[in-house]
Amino acid sequence: MPAHESRNWHLESLAAHSGVGQDRLYGAVSTPIYQTVTYQHPGTELGPYDYSRTENPTRHAAQEAINRLDNGAGALLYSSGMAALTALVHTLQQGDHVLITEDAYGGTYRIMVDIFSKFGIASSMVNTRDIDQVKQHITSKTRLFIVETPSNPLLRISPLEELAELAHAHHAELAVDNTFMTAVRQRPLELGADYVVYSATKYLAGHNDVLAGAIVCKTPEQYDKLNELTNATGSVLGPWDAWLLLRGLKTLAIRMDRQESNARRIAEFLSHHQNIRHVYYPELADHDMRERHLRQASGYGAMLSFVLTHPEEYAAVMDRLQVILPAVSLGGVESLITHPYNETHRELPESMRRQLGIVPGLMRLSVGIEHIDDLLTDLDNALR
Ligand SMILES: *Cc1c(COP(=O)(O)O)cnc(C)c1O
Repeated sequence: MPAHESRNWHLESLAAHSGVGQDRLYGAVSTPIYQTVTYQHPGTELGPYDYSRTENPTRHAAQEAINRLDNGAGALLYSSGMAALTALVHTLQQGDHVLITEDAYGGTYRIMVDIFSKFGIASSMVNTRDIDQVKQHITSKTRLFIVETPSNPLLRISPLEELAELAHAHHAELAVDNTFMTAVRQRPLELGADYVVYSATKYLAGHNDVLAGAIVCKTPEQYDKLNELTNATGSVLGPWDAWLLLRGLKTLAIRMDRQESNARRIAEFLSHHQNIRHVYYPELADHDMRERHLRQASGYGAMLSFVLTHPEEYAAVMDRLQVILPAVSLGGVESLITHPYNETHRELPESMRRQLGIVPGLMRLSVGIEHIDDLLTDLDNALR
């Protein structure tokens, strides 16, 4: 279907039709897996595909589907979320400076500090909730903001429109890691962002069975530049994984609805539990933060964190859970729980973790699609 015809569909319909209409030969409704590296061409003329690092029909279909959801100028798919973030930073030059949300995904911090600093790209971890603090960290070399909202794991809210304006006033670009919300809840390009980055491993694919990353670009120029450097560096998504991602995307909207409604019930339950000291969830944030979130997002998502009254109990709590699995990662149909202090955020120095509120009693819960009563009973038993 030509893009212009489907542009005004609702997101639910666009998601359900991911990959539909891509098979010109047989009209297969499910995009075929084009498990090929190279493409036969007649004589000296090249066809639309040449070599699969450059482009592959299955990957192309998945890119189109993701691009439509965020209403971008073009999307690219990578072998993981970290490969996507790495490609994004590759658009910079030696001497450039990057601002990153201080409690961003630990891996984002790691590539900047351990890898890109060696190539002369500097970075600062900043409290992006506070525009004044962001202003203090901008230098004449700042070219990119990488912002997560809600952030990981404390679900803190940064103001996307203000950050886009600030970045552009300083000749910098704004990239939003939209992994937690996805396009069905938050559409950063419409709020002024230049790139949307995803760990598609999480909600977009949704089944804890495929690693993938994505970048959606605002302009064709950004897309062309990124496409060229991705073809050169080669961290692209394979056709099988692209197909799994397409399959997952079809149910993104209903998965998000169910996961979010479960998460809201759990947040409410935990906020009244005597063995819980604090719950982090955008719906339970203070008034101003909740209002800020609702100006830029259409729901609260399905990630929440909480602090145990008795931090030393964390391993026992995890042990007693049966429906909720102790495992890193998030966004899939199965509920998963992690201990950020020792797992996802262990790359951050101890002092920084403490300062950010990533304390030993903090647990992060990715709520799945199980029956709410089973989830509540499981938590109730584990916290007793
Ligand atoms: C998981 C995650 C990443 C990294 O993605 P991978 O697919 O694991 O490489 C980046 N950002 C956020 C917010 C994530 O949750």
